[in-house]
Amino acid sequence: MNKQLVFGHANPDTDAIGTAIAAAEYFKRRGIETEAVALGNPNDETRFALNYFHLKCPRVINKADTEEVILVDHNEAKQSVSNFNDIKVTHVIDHHKINFQTTDPIYYYAKPVGCTSTILFELYQNAHLEIPSPIAGIMLSAIISDTLLLKSPTTTDEDRQAVEALAKIAEVSDYKKYGLTMLKAGTNVDKHSDHEIIDGDAKSFEMNGRKVRIGQVNTVDVNDVLSRSSLKDNVKKEMIDKGYDDILLVVTNIIDSNSKGIFYGKDESAVEKAFNAKLIDHVIDLPGIVSRKKQIVPNLTKGME
Ligand code: MN
Ligand code: MN
Repeated sequence: MNKQLVFGHANPDTDAIGTAIAAAEYFKRRGIETEAVALGNPNDETRFALNYFHLKCPRVINKADTEEVILVDHNEAKQSVSNFNDIKVTHVIDHHKINFQTTDPIYYYAKPVGCTSTILFELYQNAHLEIPSPIAGIMLSAIISDTLLLKSPTTTDEDRQAVEALAKIAEVSDYKKYGLTMLKAGTNVDKHSDHEIIDGDAKSFEMNGRKVRIGQVNTVDVNDVLSRSSLKDNVKKEMIDKGYDDILLVVTNIIDSNSKGIFYGKDESAVEKAFNAKLIDHVIDLPGIVSRKKQIVPNLTKGME
């Protein structure tokens, strides 16, 4: 049997990379030859988690070099490999809205839980497969990352149970302490360029015919990020250069779970309507907003109708 690549979305986060590693191992144990790869370099947070559990960073690709692939943590062509339309997707494991077309029947497993690793945890359990300790560690890290330590509104009881169980297998005695250290490792924005902050965790969406780019950056001090002198200009520049109709950069405080957004676009009233707040000099206050998937995208989609 030919090898199959397993990967998460472009601009990978800890779920995209961590769950690709976990899924590659799972499918290997089920008889499929796999390789976990990443559609971009790991960010600081993911790098911290990989190092902590002594895992190697997967090979980085933009274009799949196998005929068949397995997708995790995404299902949309826009967020995937450049040759998406020329390859065959045999499996999808995901927790995002579904925007996927298939001509053949495929294995598609999606659940509205906080992290794709929570779904992998269930698959390992159902198959009565032991999870190797380092893999449990990176799965734990993925869930902590996606749910901001189980505080995001995307968090479910399944995520909580998976975290408890995975922490034990990974021998992490205090997952809250580990999780905060890991999240903080991803918030050192001082050493990054504006472009890295704007695009490091950005995804494209289509809303009412508009091409909308939404980025998010975690921090322990929102004003520390917003006070960067050229950040706003560069958000606007990114929109113009890449041809987006609208762009929103969400700056999220991981300690108190509040955010502020920088917005540029065709219609400022859309974002004001979406979040029921005023834009002041292209900045909008987003109290209690942390989840792009469950809060930002649905609200903004409504605002743009
Ligand atoms: Mn992700
Ligand atoms: Mn995810």
